[in-house]
Amino acid sequence: MTPSLQPVGVGWIEVITGCMFSGKTEELIRRLRRAQFARQRVVVFKPGIDNRYAEDSVGSHSGQRMRSFQVERATDIPGLVGEAQVVGVDEAQFLGPELVEIVERLANEGRRVIVAGLDMDYRGVPFEPLPQLLAVSEYITKNLAICMVCGNPADRSQRVVNRDARFLVGESDAYEARCRRCWDPNNFEPRQEQLGLGQNLSET
Ligand code: ZN
Repeated sequence: MTPSLQPVGVGWIEVITGCMFSGKTEELIRRLRRAQFARQRVVVFKPGIDNRYAEDSVGSHSGQRMRSFQVERATDIPGLVGEAQVVGVDEAQFLGPELVEIVERLANEGRRVIVAGLDMDYRGVPFEPLPQLLAVSEYITKNLAICMVCGNPADRSQRVVNRDARFLVGESDAYEARCRRCWDPNNFEPRQEQLGLGQNLSET
């Protein structure tokens, strides 16, 4: 048997994860588009909770978009995949623990499944079901953003408004990408105040 660089005749799971502003959705769309160019049947899902940009498309902060189905829960996905060979799921952190079993089932059926989602909430707590998905996937991509305070590689989502919800949907203004050093889950001051911009700009 000749070894193959690409799996042939089997499905698999790819996970794209990272903090806010790390380009997860862009990377998801890039992979799905590449499959479409190859005339593979592609379908993409996102949770109904995420209404930003457009009702029926997956959109990234940079304006990339692709048509998608909105689902209320992960268990809605199997009934909608049809003959798709490639299945994308965006914002996986809102689809709960059932998503793990669903994507495993789709991969076992021979499909390529590409899942994108936040790995940690603003407190740095792993965001289910991403930890479980990372464990069962064949391929993992962890994207880093750029720290909005110091410019180092960033893996944390800093919340810059003091509110209770675990995630503020569609409010990217409420977050900044931060590195480990500049991230502080108990301090909700935005970058300008961290840098002392405004008061001290004339002194530099
Ligand atoms: Zn930093």
